[in-house]
Amino acid sequence: MSSGNIRYGATIRKRKRAVTQQKIALYKCESCGKNSVERISTAIWRCRHCGKIYAGGAYTFTTAMGAISKHSLDSVGKSQRTAVQDSSKQV
Ligand SMILES: [Zn+2]
Repeated sequence: MSSGNIRYGATIRKRKRAVTQQKIALYKCESCGKNSVERISTAIWRCRHCGKIYAGGAYTFTTAMGAISKHSLDSVGKSQRTAVQDSSKQV
């Protein structure tokens, strides 16, 4: 997509440029640690190096809401693991 299809307003063109840069940027892969995660479709991101596929934001790899939900999922998993460890200690 070129910027030719957006008209009438500098703000919206600037916003489009920021989104496009996030869209084409490479992000860090959590699996192999390389900076090679690229957007292959809306909200679908794939690592060029190891081929792992991520679900992310439509135009950026991680969204604010995605980070919040990941954090809460991590804390739920952590509390479940400690609960299992505690019960195994009691037995
Ligand atoms: Zn990878």
